[in-house]
Amino acid sequence: MALQAIKTFEIRLIPFKNFIKHSIRPLSSLPEFSKNKYNVKRKSFNLIEDAHVSFFQNLLGKERVLTDESELLSYNIDWIKNCRGESRVVLKPKCTEHVSAILKFCNDNNLAVCPQGGNTGLVGGSVPVFDEIVLSTEGMNNIISLDEISGVLVCEAGCILENLDNHLREHNLMMPLDLGAKGSCHIGGNISTNAGGLRLLRYGNLHGSVLGVEAVKADGEVIDCLGTLKKDNTGYHLKHLFIGSEGTLGIVTKVSINCPTLSSSINVAFLGVENFDNVLKLYQLAKSSLGEIMSAFEMADAASLETTIEHLKLQNPIGDYPFYVLIETSGSNESHDSEKLTEFLEKTMSSNLVLNGTYQTEPSRIKPIWALREGIPQAILYDGYVLKYDISLPLKDYYSIVPIMREKLGSDAVRICGYGHIGDGNIHVNIAIKEFSQEIIKKIEPYIYEYTSNLKGSVSAEHGIGFRKPNYIHYSKSNACLGLMKSLKNLMDPKGILNPYKVLPS
Ligand SMILES: Cc1cc2nc3c(=O)[nH]c(=O)nc-3n(C[C@H](O)[C@H](O)[C@H](O)COP(=O)(O)OP(=O)(O)OC[C@H]3O[C@@H](n4cnc5c(N)ncnc54)[C@H](O)[C@@H]3O)c2cc1C
Repeated sequence: MALQAIKTFEIRLIPFKNFIKHSIRPLSSLPEFSKNKYNVKRKSFNLIEDAHVSFFQNLLGKERVLTDESELLSYNIDWIKNCRGESRVVLKPKCTEHVSAILKFCNDNNLAVCPQGGNTGLVGGSVPVFDEIVLSTEGMNNIISLDEISGVLVCEAGCILENLDNHLREHNLMMPLDLGAKGSCHIGGNISTNAGGLRLLRYGNLHGSVLGVEAVKADGEVIDCLGTLKKDNTGYHLKHLFIGSEGTLGIVTKVSINCPTLSSSINVAFLGVENFDNVLKLYQLAKSSLGEIMSAFEMADAASLETTIEHLKLQNPIGDYPFYVLIETSGSNESHDSEKLTEFLEKTMSSNLVLNGTYQTEPSRIKPIWALREGIPQAILYDGYVLKYDISLPLKDYYSIVPIMREKLGSDAVRICGYGHIGDGNIHVNIAIKEFSQEIIKKIEPYIYEYTSNLKGSVSAEHGIGFRKPNYIHYSKSNACLGLMKSLKNLMDPKGILNPYKVLPS
């Protein structure tokens, strides 16, 4: 195997905010309203009236209350254009006091609220189903403090993940999470979805790295758990209630997060592999050979790479193979890390686990390799109507669902991609069909969830339950667990105004 030197090539990854705007289709092809598409009955919340709008305008100022239909459109449609609500008002509070006053008013007036961060969620949780008021955290984007010694960052919920990371890099620190939507998603949205991402393998999930949360309950009460300590066992760990609860228990307003030191030595290997068994063997070998310096182990099948190359015009630096693996190492000693990686790559060559590959150390050459992997969820949207399944499976069964779905769907599917965070057991199965079709969806759901459940997997590895999956949550949660979740919801939001129709089955 020759480890080719990669040519510099142009990155054509479209910035997310632009992409959202560009990808809003003309009026005739806007997504159908979720209420009709999924046959949902409106709950008995009050309708928004002019007097309510006046209250919000007095509180926030007119410019922070959007009511114009054209301005509301992008807040009513989710990123993959599966879901569409018909909210008449978007509110953009500036601070916790605003959020508290809005929620108190909504609770008193029985008005439903849909919290929204960067609107990059993939399960329809971030957009209204009916006319829920959208509470956007866009205006709450201040960094409050950074302790360079402990690495603790405190900021408001509306800070964009990439902006936080850029700020930290100036102080030799980094965010403990990274995902393809980093240019648009908010840290409050990340926390509310317990986002995983590309380096969970190394830095763990947000239940570990988030040290504190400030959140506002449905009745407007501010719950201040914004501690910055790494150790604090004083009673119940309430912050965890808000991590991953998708805006159903409270609105996250501030966050404190433990940030690792920036690695001075980053290497990326991009490898072509013959079959999935070899991908697993490669993972095992990478764990034992690279140990503590491995920060990502991602895989993509041929169909996934084809979609980024075709639609985003990226270049494949190593040629066509059935499977691709991206391995990143991050450490503090360049010669030690590259020695380890070279030794590992030599082993993979001598054992024929890898057919071809490239290994890069320069940031400008690493970026286009990551773009190939990060661009997949975006590129497949060009194929048509996309159904996204984000499941955890035991590693030995990780890829098994992809050929099954290809067999089941045949020519009904434009393309089926399997890619994901293999180190976390999380595969993304993206199925593009020509257009929305209940008949085709019935061939996939609930089959894919039953399959996952039978293998003791999770029907949602990292995207959450949102609006699209409450009917399938029972495949991963027992009745007793669901009962306790409902009790918590009733305790914290007795009128159910926060993100109704989401997470809990009705
Ligand atoms: C290209 C692409 C790649 C992605 N890759 C990954 C990945 O690798 N890993 C992963 O986990 N996810 C991934 N996602 C999904 C998504 O980006 C994450 O779920 C992200 O954390 C959502 O953040 P957001 O600010 O966009 O939240 P939104 O989409 O706005 O909201 C998501 C949910 O959180 C709630 N919410 C938002 N803000 C708040 C708040 N302040 N308080 C309470 N509730 C709130 C919303 O009501 C909604 O239910 C990806 C998405 C895209 C488009």
